[in-house]
Amino acid sequence: MEQAKVDKSLIGVGSATLSVWAGEQSGHPYGATQTPIVASAAHAYSDIDQWYEVALGQQPGFIYSRMSNPTVAVLEAKLSVLEQAEAAVAFSSGMGVISSVLYTFLSHGKRVVSTKDSYGGTNKIFEEFLPRMGVDVCLCDTLDHQQIEAQIAQGCDLLYLETPTNPSLKILDIKRLVAAAKKVGALVVADNTFATPINQNPLSLGVDVVVHSATKYLSGHGDVMGGIACGSKVLMEQVRHYREINGAALDPFAAYLIIRGIKTLALRFRQQQASAKAMADFLLTQTLVESVNYPGLEQHPNHLIAKQQMRGFGAIVSFVLKGGMDAVKLLLPKLKYAHCAGNLGAVETIYGPARTTSHVENTLEERQALGISEGLVRISVGIEDTDDLLADLKQALAATATELENK
Ligand code: PLP
Repeated sequence: MEQAKVDKSLIGVGSATLSVWAGEQSGHPYGATQTPIVASAAHAYSDIDQWYEVALGQQPGFIYSRMSNPTVAVLEAKLSVLEQAEAAVAFSSGMGVISSVLYTFLSHGKRVVSTKDSYGGTNKIFEEFLPRMGVDVCLCDTLDHQQIEAQIAQGCDLLYLETPTNPSLKILDIKRLVAAAKKVGALVVADNTFATPINQNPLSLGVDVVVHSATKYLSGHGDVMGGIACGSKVLMEQVRHYREINGAALDPFAAYLIIRGIKTLALRFRQQQASAKAMADFLLTQTLVESVNYPGLEQHPNHLIAKQQMRGFGAIVSFVLKGGMDAVKLLLPKLKYAHCAGNLGAVETIYGPARTTSHVENTLEERQALGISEGLVRISVGIEDTDDLLADLKQALAATATELENK
């Protein structure tokens, strides 16, 4: 099997067709229709000169799976097409790719500008690890674009965006912030995990590097971890070089599961988004609910930006329950069709408070500083029937309200 190549004939076709066919190859052993799992740490050569040329990248081929692997290469080609990128590099987790991209492009004395609302693990890199390396980190209020622009203008080597944010679902205006970053020559990195390439292609809005936790929607079944970066060949070569040395490469078995998952991405996401909107609308009507976050709601503070830069509003809804953590503890065990777990983007609906999911790495004080309330619950809406999900949430809220009244 040759190194996977981006099939240009697929550009312009619909996202469901792309999810299935992008990056796929023919000519598999035994006429297999599916990408084989090439479980080999190394690839053997009898011709030393050819081996050397492959090792130098002068001929296509594979040497050692920490550098590249045929199954992983198919996944990388698939994501390149979906994200309209020249190249992609896969990692063993979302945090693996985020930390590697940041460590590839940042070093002592550089300055990174980002927002307070990024995923908790990413926030830890900003608060704990990068300052230790001598990187100046500036985290702005996510909803204050003027503040972000002003900080970029004061000096910025890398602008890091996550939009929509986890779990508050705030939206950043990608084009506007890219324009500010380009004025000072900063590289722009965007986490596209929540939007997925079905809803948003940050590279087409001027972003340089897109990162994904493939653990979420891309794989879609909550059974594998992975991460992937997409961008130009030049940038991805640098990221690949870093991965070769830090060793956070993706396993071919995991790559196979992610490839299989992506084939149904567009289909899954369609159903999940439709249910998410219905659940957000329903939550708005509930007296036990203090506030609802969903970019598809007209009253969402960034609804118009979301409408401009996204093709859909996503499948995550979050809400603040009146009564804080005590009420959350009563509500969650009453749900019948949901896991209470620290994951998202799977076929099953998953509920989780920010305290035990996205911001488990943060202390109470840090969460308070980030504006993450203890009653904030994230719903990753699954592919179940919308009516069943609504009925389940309704019964759980009603039973919780009764218990709270009787306390
Ligand atoms: N980015 C976002 C938006 C996330 O929600 C997560 C995890 O929840 C990550 C990155 C990290 O991904 P992983 O858990 O695969 O390391």
